[in-house]
Amino acid sequence: MRATDMLFVTLRENPAEAEIPSHKLLLRAGYIRRIASGVYAYLPLMWRVLKKVSQIVREEMDATGAQECLLPQIQPAELWQESGRWDTYTKTEGIMFSLTDRQEREIGLGPTHEEVITAIARDMIRSYRQLPLHLYQIQSKFRDEIRPRFGLMRGREFIMKDGYSFHTDAESLKKTYQDMYRAYSNIMRRCGLAFRAVDADSGAIGGSGSQEFMILAEAGEDEVLYTEDGKYAANVEKAVSLPEEKQLSPFSSYEKLDTPGTETIATICQLLKCSATQIVKNVLYQAVYDTGLTVLVLVSIRGDQDVNEVKLQNELSRLAGNYEAKTLVALSVPDAQEQKKWSSSPLPLGYIAPDLSDRYIASNPKVHSKFLRLIDKTAVDLQNFVTGSNESGYHVVGANWGEQFPLPELVIDLRKATAGDRAVHDPSQILQSARGIEAGHIFQLGTKYSQAMGATYTNEAGEEKPLVMGCYGVGVSRLAQSAVEQSYDKDGIIWPVAIAPYHAIVVIPNINDQEQVAAAEKLYNDLNQAGVETILDDRKERAGVKFKDADLIGIPYRIVTGRSLKDGKVEVVERASRNSQEMAIEDVLPTIKQWVQAALG
Ligand code: ATP
Ligand code: MG
Repeated sequence: MRATDMLFVTLRENPAEAEIPSHKLLLRAGYIRRIASGVYAYLPLMWRVLKKVSQIVREEMDATGAQECLLPQIQPAELWQESGRWDTYTKTEGIMFSLTDRQEREIGLGPTHEEVITAIARDMIRSYRQLPLHLYQIQSKFRDEIRPRFGLMRGREFIMKDGYSFHTDAESLKKTYQDMYRAYSNIMRRCGLAFRAVDADSGAIGGSGSQEFMILAEAGEDEVLYTEDGKYAANVEKAVSLPEEKQLSPFSSYEKLDTPGTETIATICQLLKCSATQIVKNVLYQAVYDTGLTVLVLVSIRGDQDVNEVKLQNELSRLAGNYEAKTLVALSVPDAQEQKKWSSSPLPLGYIAPDLSDRYIASNPKVHSKFLRLIDKTAVDLQNFVTGSNESGYHVVGANWGEQFPLPELVIDLRKATAGDRAVHDPSQILQSARGIEAGHIFQLGTKYSQAMGATYTNEAGEEKPLVMGCYGVGVSRLAQSAVEQSYDKDGIIWPVAIAPYHAIVVIPNINDQEQVAAAEKLYNDLNQAGVETILDDRKERAGVKFKDADLIGIPYRIVTGRSLKDGKVEVVERASRNSQEMAIEDVLPTIKQWVQAALG
C-alpha cells in the first residue's frame, strides 16, 4: 500500500479523551476514531489488525473441530423472556440495548448469544448422535456499558468471538473446555501477548468452573492473585487464601466500654490496644431483587478482613428463592439517604452489633422486615471478641457467640483474599498481585439455558435430557488494543509481528531523488510479491516526519532508501529493538522474509 493512497492521518498531540497509553496511541496513529461514547470506527490500519487477530482465533477454533457460523444481532425479546434474562438485561443497570419495531415487537441488540444458540439447538439437535457440537462466530456485540472507557477496552459496540458447545454430559463438556483452554492459550501466545489464565467467578450460574485469560498490563481493570510456584492464579473476585492467624483476645470478661469516636477498626484497635483480628465487624448491605423487594443484609466478619462483594452477590443470588424472587438486581452499601428510605430511626453506624434489632427496619411492603444475617468463616471461631454495642460511642469486649450474641444464621466464605495472604494449596506460598485485562473467558455453563428453554436431546436409552452447554468468548477488539498496552515506547506502538497491520514500511527520505524512489519502488514491489506486507511511504514530507510516523504506527521493520544507496545499501531498522543496520539491497528481501516467518512461528 502506498501512503499517498492511504488514510494516513497522525496526530502530534495526545487526544484529551484518552487516559491510557494504548488508547492515546491508537487515536494518535490513526487506527481508530471515536464516533460516540464507547463507539469507534475501526480505520483501515485497525481493521487489518482485527482481521489478523480474528484469523488467529478462527484457525485455533477450527483446529478443535468447532464450526463457524453467524448469528443475528437483532434478537426477539421472547427468547430472552424464556431464559428469564430480558428484564435483568434491559432494566435498571442492564446492558442490553432494546428497541420496539414497527409492529410494536420488542427487540434487543445482541450483547451475547446464549438464547439464540439454545433456540437453534432446541430445533435442530434431536439425538445424542449429533453430540458433541460446537458453533462459534466472530461479530460485533452491543452492550450499553455503564462506564464505557479506554477506547476499545470497554466499548458499547465491540468485536467478540463467542462459541457455544453442546454435550450429552459433564465429562464431554470438560473435554471441550480443556480443548478451549489450549486454543485460548495458543491464541494469546500467537498474538505475542504475555498472559495468565486464572480461575474466575462463575456468577450465580454456578456450573463447574470458568477461567479468564488475562493480558498482563498495569492499566488492567482486574486484579489477579497468583503464587510464584505457578500452581495458583485467580481473579481477586474468586480468589481464596488463608487469612492471617488470629491473636488471642486480651479480654476475659464481657463488658460494655465507653469508646467515643471509634467508628473505624483502626481507631477502636488504638483505643483498646487490641488487634483487628479480635474484632467482629458488622457491615450493612442493601440488596434489591427483581420483584422490587429490598433486603437488608448484615455481614459479620473479622475486623482485619474485607467482604468480597462478588462472593456476597453470588450468595444473595442463591438466596433469591427465599424471597420469592428470581434474581438479584442490585447490591450496595446504603448511604445516609438510602438508609432514610427504610430505617425507622438513625442507625448506630460504626457501633453496629451482630444482633442489631429488626425494629430499625420500618414497616414497608417493599422492604423485608428482618435483617438477613450472614457470618464469614473468619469470625466464627473468635472468642472474647470486641464488637459494637448498637449504641453510638460504645463497644462491647469479651463477647462470645452463643452467649451474648446468637451465631448468625448462615456461615459462608465471604472474605476477600489479598496479596500477602498465604495460599491454600501450600501455606509457604504467598499470594502476589498483578493487574490484568480480561481478554477471554471460558465457561462450563451446564444446563441453565437448555433447561430454561427446553432444549433437550434423546440419549442412548431413549430418554429425553437437557443439553449440557459450555460457552467461550474472546474480545477480539479488546485483545488488539491490549497488545498495544503491553507493547509501546515513547515514540509509539510496537506491534507484535503476527498482528501488525503491515510487516514492513519502505521510507523514501527524499521523493525528489529519482534514485531513492526507484530503489524504494522495487523493494516495495518485491517485498509485497514475496508476501511481506509492506507500505511505501511516498509522501511529500520531510524525512524526519516520515520516521516519526513509522515509529508511531508501529510497523515492525523499516527500510530507508537513503544516503548509502550509492554503495548499494539501505538502512533496515527493527522497531522493537531499534537496532539499525546497513544492508545490501539484495539481502533485504530474504532477510526480512525470514524475520517475519520466524516471528510468526
Ligand atoms: P467484563 O467483566 O470486562 O465486563 P464480561 O465478563 O462482561 O467482561 P464476557 O461476557 O465474558 O465479558 O465477554 C467475553 C469477552 O468479551 C471478554 O473476555 C472481553 O474480552 C470482551 N468484552 C466484554 N465486554 C466488552 C466491552 N464492553 N468492550 C470490549 N470487549 C468486551
Ligand atoms: Mg467474563
